[in-house]
Amino acid sequence: MRRRDIVADDSLPVMVPRSDMVLVPTPASRVRWLHEHLIEALQDLRKAKHPERLASPLQPEPSGFAATVARTACSLCKGWCCRNGGNDAFLDDRTMARVRIARPDMDERAVLRLYLDRVPAVAYRDSCIFHGKQGCTLDRSLRADVCNSYYCGGLGAYMKTSAAVPTKVIAGEGDKMRTSPVLTP
Ligand code: SF4
Ligand code: SF4
Repeated sequence: MRRRDIVADDSLPVMVPRSDMVLVPTPASRVRWLHEHLIEALQDLRKAKHPERLASPLQPEPSGFAATVARTACSLCKGWCCRNGGNDAFLDDRTMARVRIARPDMDERAVLRLYLDRVPAVAYRDSCIFHGKQGCTLDRSLRADVCNSYYCGGLGAYMKTSAAVPTKVIAGEGDKMRTSPVLTP
């Protein structure tokens, strides 16, 4: 299908990629890797003199019509960018600092458990360990800053203007292409 045909309704096109990764049971080796990584991140945090200065910010969630466009795009795309999350989901001492400050009642063991319990039994192969069938299994407050602030090229260009105009998301190319209905503000 040609792009001219897809956007014949004059809506604003937002072009994003589309993942075709497959779901597989999460291997125990991946969980062990994550476990070790989190222990190291928490050890690094213990060395920090001022954890409050180290803590990564918690970016606010988009709101209004821009949130609808972002949600639609990421859902049609099926989390293409999450492939970079690997077994550590970008989690580091900066994220651990934020999480520990927000949950003073939790000790390190409880924080570890919090993350390990979120690993889905079935996750996308070659993607982030938290990338399950319904998307990311971590709340925003538990994610690394990059996960809360990153937008791919097409969605990022839209988010800069957040234009409140009829918008259509076009995800993927060729046979894999999917389009949203026209989203209206
Ligand atoms: S930011 Fe872009 S690549 Fe990442 S999930 Fe959303 S639409 Fe897909
Ligand atoms: S933690 Fe969530 S948002 Fe971040 S890479 Fe993994 S699945 Fe994607």
